[in-house]
Amino acid sequence: MAKAGRVACCVPFCRRTIAHAKLQAAHGLDGIEANEWICGNHWRNVSTLVRRLYSIRKRHYRELLSAERPAYVRHVNHIWSVCRKQAIERAAGI
Ligand SMILES: [Zn+2]
Repeated sequence: MAKAGRVACCVPFCRRTIAHAKLQAAHGLDGIEANEWICGNHWRNVSTLVRRLYSIRKRHYRELLSAERPAYVRHVNHIWSVCRKQAIERAAGI
């Protein structure tokens, strides 16, 4: 577990961390998946297609009315989980 106020990269054994406040600001998603982070190095493990999809979905989320957002959270979280899976698997050389 990372130090208080910091979030560690999702990839096992990666020592990089980010300040929680900074992470929350970067996501801007009312707290969704704001407890998880993929560092810059490992983010490159995620395929361009999935990274692009994630940024598009994140933008859609911001543009939605707040009443419609909760239903979209699962969708964005799903794409995030694909990002995380790719980052971890490629780091492990799978
Ligand atoms: Zn990392």
